[in-house]
Amino acid sequence: METADLIVIGSGQGGIPLACDFAQAGQKVVLFEPDALGGSCVNYGCTPSKAFLAAAHAAGRARQAEKLGIHAEVTVDFPAVMIRVRSIRDRAPVDRSMADSGVHAWASDLGTFGRAAQLTIG
Ligand SMILES: Cc1cc2nc3c(=O)[nH]c(=O)nc-3n(C[C@H](O)[C@H](O)[C@H](O)COP(=O)(O)OP(=O)(O)OC[C@H]3O[C@@H](n4cnc5c(N)ncnc54)[C@H](O)[C@@H]3O)c2cc1C
Repeated sequence: METADLIVIGSGQGGIPLACDFAQAGQKVVLFEPDALGGSCVNYGCTPSKAFLAAAHAAGRARQAEKLGIHAEVTVDFPAVMIRVRSIRDRAPVDRSMADSGVHAWASDLGTFGRAAQLTIG
């Protein structure tokens, strides 16, 4: 049976800083995450949405440039936009920051609690 000072459920913006801070303070931390590391912010929310918006803003500015005497024909290569969005998302160093801090990450859903201070994962 493995023991831990702290368990953290989920590797989102809530879980990762908490897990890293406690691990850096010398605690043995086990983090459970059944899905992609980083939670919604890194994988579906903040990071990809801002990368996507950067492309939309660039196209929008180019289309508005005519008012300034700049004539540009704008075409959006959507697959290329999405390749860039996904590459930025995939660059987020979530696994490295957890490993550097000494967090033990388990690719698992948190199952049921057994008796006090013992849990079963699955
Ligand atoms: C499109 C979009 C854009 C956004 N942009 C911004 C922004 O610019 N700035 C900003 O501050 N916020 C933004 N947000 C909000 C931000 O993404 C969330 O507030 C933040 O990610 C919440 O973090 P969290 O850790 O609470 O939850 P989550 O990121 O949802 O993490 C929870 C994690 O827990 C895991 N989990 C759930 N149940 C279990 C279980 N039983 N066992 C183990 N693991 C489990 C999940 O798989 C998940 O990875 C945006 C959200 C969206 C959707």
